Amino acid sequence: MTTDADLAGGRLTIDLGALQRNWGKLRDRSGAAECGAVVKADAYGCGIEQVVPALEKAGCRTFFVAVPQEGISLRAVAPEPACYILNGLFPKAAKALIENRLRPVLGSMNQLHLWADAARIHGAPLPCALHVDTGMNRLGLSLEELRDAVADQDLMAQLDVQLLMTHFACADDVDHPKTDVQRAVFDMAADMLPGVPRSAANSAASLQGFGYDLARPGVAMYGGEALNDVDNAMEVVVTLEGRINQIRTVKKGETVGYGATETMIRESRIAYLSLGYADGYHRAASHMGVPMREVAAPARAAYKGQRLKGVGRISMDLCAFDVTDVPPNEIAEGDWIELFGPNIAVDDVARAAGTIGYELLTGMGRRYSRRYVG
Ligand SMILES: *Cc1c(COP(=O)(O)O)cnc(C)c1O
Repeated sequence: MTTDADLAGGRLTIDLGALQRNWGKLRDRSGAAECGAVVKADAYGCGIEQVVPALEKAGCRTFFVAVPQEGISLRAVAPEPACYILNGLFPKAAKALIENRLRPVLGSMNQLHLWADAARIHGAPLPCALHVDTGMNRLGLSLEELRDAVADQDLMAQLDVQLLMTHFACADDVDHPKTDVQRAVFDMAADMLPGVPRSAANSAASLQGFGYDLARPGVAMYGGEALNDVDNAMEVVVTLEGRINQIRTVKKGETVGYGATETMIRESRIAYLSLGYADGYHRAASHMGVPMREVAAPARAAYKGQRLKGVGRISMDLCAFDVTDVPPNEIAEGDWIELFGPNIAVDDVARAAGTIGYELLTGMGRRYSRRYVG
């Protein structure tokens, strides 16, 4: 559903220039020969159709999505670049992958054999990545399986292995010892496939320079926090604003919203915004008792640079903010209030809801109007 700005309760502004600059920063910091981009989940909610051409323009030549359908969506706007399917090969997906020149990241022996079978029918080796598990125990071959696969010449003759891949479990924590353990295992895997380019780095590992041959950042390109307890060096890409639906005065001692969870300690002016948890603005952000880090609690929104306190529970299509301290002639119904963006970090709103920025970005609702700038 696309929504006209005048008819929408919330509006998203996506800065493609900031996205391109963030990608450039990640490329430079990763130490990798090449920097790709992860554009799964509709480019983390930012729109694969707009994001992929912008990144291509910035110089990106390799993309990663999670599932085949996303690869097909990418092909609609980008016929040229390499595109890998991170979640691997589904049993009946080979034909669609071949037709759309998509490369599966093969993560099990069964998938290797399925892709080899498809190549025999196709009549030529088919491009793919091999995923080796180095300790996350999510997807990928064990070292032993990789050794067996490499020794199987009939199998390898059908596979045009373009990339050896692994994924870190704890790269967001810069001091975590597991990353070094995984890197050592990955080196052993790479020794079995000399000359095959290696890819391991998500945003967090890219920022630490563990780029290998091909980095594949996601969240940091979109302005999200990738490293714990490290200042976010990325520019803001996504801004969410809610439209003021109405402003009402609530007397001292009265309560606001479902559950009557919050009692006014003074006569208050409350602005209701026309968006809520049905738009991905998590109800859990109402009152989890988790203080925001960069914004003095319990501020949760901003209006013309001024912080606003959230009031009561977030409902399905509405949420409330205290605007008592904004001069009445400076705020009116129809105005927009920032829920995250340059003044309120998306990761802070996520933290208040007990989750991470990734989940807020990928859960952004379909009722918003969207505009692309930069
Ligand atoms: C999602 C994903 C990435 C990107 O991770 P970010 O933390 O968003 O940078 C990289 N590799 C794999 C395998 C992924 O699933």
